[in-house]
Amino acid sequence: MSIGGMRMVWQMIAVNLLALVLSTAYADESTGSGRFPIVDAHGHIGASFNMTKILEDMDKNGVSKQIVMARAYPGGDSDLPGDDQLALKLAETYPGRFYPLVGMQLPMLTGAHKWNTPDTDVESLIRLTERKLASGKFFGIGEFIVRHWAYLPVWAHSPGEHAEQDNPIYSELMRRFSVLAAEYDVPMVLHMEGYPTLVEDFSKLLEENPGTRYVWAHNCGRSKAAVVRTMLSRHQNLFCDLGGMTSEVIGYGTGWPRKEEFTTLIEQSGVLFPEMKSLYEEFPDRFMVGIDVAHAPAWRIYDGRVRRTREVLEQLSPETRAKMAERNAIRIYKLSR
Ligand SMILES: [Zn+2]
Repeated sequence: MSIGGMRMVWQMIAVNLLALVLSTAYADESTGSGRFPIVDAHGHIGASFNMTKILEDMDKNGVSKQIVMARAYPGGDSDLPGDDQLALKLAETYPGRFYPLVGMQLPMLTGAHKWNTPDTDVESLIRLTERKLASGKFFGIGEFIVRHWAYLPVWAHSPGEHAEQDNPIYSELMRRFSVLAAEYDVPMVLHMEGYPTLVEDFSKLLEENPGTRYVWAHNCGRSKAAVVRTMLSRHQNLFCDLGGMTSEVIGYGTGWPRKEEFTTLIEQSGVLFPEMKSLYEEFPDRFMVGIDVAHAPAWRIYDGRVRRTREVLEQLSPETRAKMAERNAIRIYKLSR
C-alpha cells in the first residue's frame, strides 16, 4: 500500500471513530439537544389548551411523550374544560407522543356519597369507562380526585364547587374501578393529600387488589419519605409520580395551596432533600416524573418545570435517573404496547 493509500485508510478510520463518538453521544442523550429524554407522566388537557404549543414546548424541552388526562372541571372563559375525545384527538394527531387515560376529573364525582353508593350516573360512567378501555386507545384511568385542597386561580372569580374534595379511598367506587383496571391491565392515578387515615384506608385497597397498579400522584400525596417507604415496601402494586413537585413558582412542589403536618416537599431551590434522594435510589423502579399543568393560562410555567425536573434528576445515579425520567413510565403504563 502506498503512503497516500495509508493516509486515506487512517483518514477513514478517524472519520469512522468520530462518527462512532457522535452517534454514542446522541444515543445517550438523544432528543437532539444533548439532553436525556423525559416522559411527562402527569399531563392534562382542556378545550383552551393550544395543542401545537404543547407539542412545540415538549420538543423544545426534550419531552418525548406525555400521559394526558382530560380535566372536565369548569375553569372559566380562558380555561374551558376538556373531555376524553379531546385527549384522543391529541393522541391521534401526534402519534407516539400522547397517551390518554380515561379522565376522572369529573363534576359528577364530587361528593362522598357518589363514592360510597354509586348512583345511576356513576354506574353509566363505569360502563362507559369499560368500553373506552376495550377500544385499546386508553392507557389508564385517572386522575381520581380523592382528597384535594381548594385553590383560586388568578384568572378565576371563585374556586368553584369542585375545588375542595374529600372523598373516601376505601369505597365502592374505588373497588369497582380497581377491578376494571386489573381486567384491562392499566394503572389508576389518584390525587390524595396524605392524611394518615386515608393512607391507612389506601393500604386496604392496595392489599385487596394486588393485580391493580396504582399511581399515587404528587410524590405519593406529598407524604414524608418514611411514609412513602413503608407504603412502597408493603405494596408492590404502588407507584408514585412527581406531578408538579418540581416547581419554580407556583405548584404542589412549593407547598401550594397549603400544607399540613403530614405534608412534605421533595426539593428546595432545585436541590433534592437527602431523604428523598435516598428514597428514589432505594426504589428506582417506582417513581416517574410529571409536569402537571392543569390549566391553559398556566401553560407558560411548562419550560421552567421541565428545567427544574432535569436539575433534580441530575442529582441521581444515571441508572435511577434514566428509570425515573423515562423507562418507568413506559413500563408502568405499557406505552410500547
Ligand atoms: Zn393531581
